[in-house]
Formats: sequence, C-alpha cells, structure tokens
Amino acid sequence: MTILTIIDAIDRWGMKEPDRPVYIENNRTYTYGELKRDSDAIAAYLHKNIEQSRPVVVYGELEFEMLACFLGASKAGHAYIPIEAHTPQERVEMILEVADPAVIFAVKEWPKMKTTATIVSLEEMAEICKTSSTLETPLKPVIGSQTYYIIFTSGTTGVPKGVQISHDNLLSFVNWELTDFGVTEGMRFLSQAPYSFDLSVMDVYPALASGGSLTPMRKEVINDFKQLFTVLPNLEIEVWVSTPSFMDICLMEPTFDGEHVESLKIFLFCGEELPKATAQKLLERFPKAHIFNTYGPTEATVAVSGVEITQEILDGYDRVPIGQVKKDTNIYIMNDEQEVPAGEVGEIVIAGPSVSKGYLHNPEKTAEAFFEYKGQPAYRTGDAGKLKEGMLVYDGRIDFQVKLHGYRIELEDIDHHLAGVSYVKQAAVVPKYQQHKVQQLVAFVVANPHEFEKEFKLTKAIKEELSATVMDYMIPQKFIYVEQLPLTANGKIDRKGLMNEVNPT
Ligand code: AMP
Repeated sequence: MTILTIIDAIDRWGMKEPDRPVYIENNRTYTYGELKRDSDAIAAYLHKNIEQSRPVVVYGELEFEMLACFLGASKAGHAYIPIEAHTPQERVEMILEVADPAVIFAVKEWPKMKTTATIVSLEEMAEICKTSSTLETPLKPVIGSQTYYIIFTSGTTGVPKGVQISHDNLLSFVNWELTDFGVTEGMRFLSQAPYSFDLSVMDVYPALASGGSLTPMRKEVINDFKQLFTVLPNLEIEVWVSTPSFMDICLMEPTFDGEHVESLKIFLFCGEELPKATAQKLLERFPKAHIFNTYGPTEATVAVSGVEITQEILDGYDRVPIGQVKKDTNIYIMNDEQEVPAGEVGEIVIAGPSVSKGYLHNPEKTAEAFFEYKGQPAYRTGDAGKLKEGMLVYDGRIDFQVKLHGYRIELEDIDHHLAGVSYVKQAAVVPKYQQHKVQQLVAFVVANPHEFEKEFKLTKAIKEELSATVMDYMIPQKFIYVEQLPLTANGKIDRKGLMNEVNPT
C-alpha cells in the first residue's frame, strides 16, 4: 500500500466511508467523517483569516481536536507546530519567538502568555466546526517541499530547535511504514507518544493513511500502573508504537502477553536503544507478533532503518541492531567528511528524501548538521555506528545528547538553564548509565552562597526554579555539590571526566 499525498490519502476515508472509526476513546468514537468535517472547517477559517506563509501552533495533549487542527492547518497550506500542554511557559515562549506563529489552537487552556498570535480556544474551535462556509478561492494544501510540520527538540544553546518536515519528507516515511512492516487497512494503533515527540508520527500518519484508527493512552493512565494494566488488555490494539522504555513498564505486568492481549500483531519501537533483555522478553511473551526495532532522528522524519527482531538476530549481535535502511535512503558511516572503511565505526550520516530542510530560522545550526552528499540531502546524526553486511549497528553518541525514557535531551540545554537558576553559579549535567541506557541525570553544581541548612532543601529549591524553564524529564534526579567543576587542558568543563566519575568501569 502506497499513497501519493498525505491529505488525499486521509480524506478519501472521510468521503468513502464517513462512519469508519478514526479515534477511539473509552466512551467516544470519532469517525473519519467527523475528522474531515472539522478539519475542512478549520482549514476554511485559516484560509479566510490567516496569512498562508505563517505556521500555526496546536497546543494540547492527545485529544481528537489536535488531529483535526493538524489536518485543518495542512489543508489550508500551513505548517503546524504541536506543543504539549505540560511544556513550561518559558520554553513555550522560546518556541513562539523562533516560530512566530499566526494562530494558536488551544485545545488545552492556553496559559496567559504574551503573543501576537490569534488564540483560538476549544469553544471557538467548536463554533468554527459548526459553521460550514463556502470559499471564494480554493484551498492550497501543503504539498511537495512545503513544510508540513515543525517539531521542536532540545538545543545545545538552551533554545529549542524547530525541525521542519516537508510533505514529501513525511510521504517518504509513511510509504515506507505502510510497505515494510505488515500494516494493512483499518488496523488499530496505540497512540501513546505526545504529538510534540516525532514518535507520534509513527502512529498518526500510517494509521490515518490506511484507514486505521488511533487509541490514545493518556498521561493519567500511563502514570497509574493499576489503571494502565486494567485498561491495556481491553483496548484491542493491533499496532503498538512506543519507546522501549514504555514497553519496559508494561512488561512488569506478568499477564501482558500474547495470551491475554491477543489483538497485538505488530510492535514498532523507536526513539532510543531497544535493550536486548526487553527484546528477548517480548519475543517470548508475544511469539506470534512481529516486533521491529527502528532507528532515526526527528531530522530525517521519525525513522530510516528497521529490523524485525528474531531469535537469530538477538543471538547474532551484542546490541540489538538498528536495521536496514529504507530503499529510497542511503546511510554513510563517516569520519571527518570521509567515509570510513566498511565495518568500521564512524558517524551515521543519513541521505535521502526524508531528510529535513533544516531548523526553522536557524541557519547556523542548519549548516552545522545538514549538507548535500552525492546529490541527496544529508544529515549528520551525531550517532556512532557501523554497517555490517547492510545491517546498521548503533554505537552510542559522539556528542552530549542523551535519551531518557525516549526523550531527546541535550545536556548543554540543561546546563544552560541550571546556570540561570538563582542558587547556581555553575553546573554540568551528566548521564548515569546502566547497560547503555540512561538511568539518571546527575547534576554537578557549584552553588551560590545560600541559607539552606540542608542540601536536600537547596536541591528542592533548584529543582523548583529549573522546572519553570525545562521539561520535567530534563530535571536531574541527583545533585552533587562541588567547590568547582573540573576543567580539561583547554579550559572547558571536563564533562567526560565527570561522566567517568558517575559511571566507573
Ligand atoms: P529523536 O530525534 O527524538 O527521534 O532522537 C533521535 C536519536 O535517538 C537518534 O539520533 C539516536 O541517538 C536515538 N535513537 C533513536 N532510535 C534508536 C534506536 N532504535 N536505537 C538506538 N538509538 C536510537
């Protein structure tokens, strides 16, 4: 199954079979007909009122209205930017400053924040969706190299970077997922990743393009084990999309297996390393399902390589391999602009049609990471890896980016914001690993003079202040107070030294 344009592929279900379910919540099922009607209305509103060149922000969690806004924006020719409702205000402000959106669709209540954008509340959206309107000029949907969505990721300078994904970037990804992973028409997908994390694109677009449905799993359920394990077997999900970290939580429930959750047919993992133990356990628990490890950065549209996990694969590698690259894309292993000899470790460079045009309004960072290679747009991932008979093997990062529970974090981003906390003079954050996986973020802090009697009170105050500027998953779990930070020979903070201190071999 392949598609030609994202919007037509989704809309055909709304026209052909308006009653087909698209979004299934506990007590409410939304249909493709409703998705088409609402997104058409939102598109008409944007078309009439908003300048086409500017992006729109969609603010909320996993609500149906988020999907209607995404699609409405695309139909009216706007790139959309998903922002999770839990994002700290200062971070949202930084995103708004970079993106300069024309409209903010506030599916969740918009925090009182200064912006020149028009805020459209949920109630106003409902009104927009009620009024059908005729257009004087036809809509011009996002197409070709025009930007379809922008996802903001952690940036080393403390300012988030907006990865621009075009319609054709997305098309290349969706067609690959629809072809290579056994997805068939009308499957039920788990929707667990926040829309601001590009892992969500792995469920949303392949599901919608193939007439499938999304079953959201909200934060409240995920954070409450009892609820999670009561809910999970009854969702009848067929395609599972998550980080390995979320799967590790689910595997804690002994009845999470093919016997009790019969519906599960396909597992797709991405976003962080799939630990061998997790893969092994899954293989045993779901012997009839197909389990895939996929790999890729947001900058190359979700994922570019994948492999089905079999016992043979697990026995053949020390670390679970990250797979074969998709057909339209090339992987090069490079060192200082040169390809390294076959089998050697170097930086993974991705070249192909799903590579982004770069970071929004950030030519400097774009030039550092994006270039053209052998006639294709290429991206330096910062990941180390090697190719062994066409199979890509991951070998960690070559910089200070980490993944914690699948979330991408630049350690320098946290340092920057920690240094802005009033109690902190200087700080460096390092990861503590267990079997290649980050277990904890540890902050080494030189504190300013303070009046706290106990260190834990100082830590509490620092965490509180830090939470105003960084996502909750970026707040270090452990704080170590030092007189000064160690420096390298050329006077930089010796982060590698600190890493070795936290991770003794
Ligand atoms: P993100 O842009 O949030 O998707 O993060 C991309 C980064 O996550 C990659 O550059 C890798 O460092 C890491 N990553 C993604 N998938 C995998 C995987 N299957 N195995 C190991 N690391 C992964």
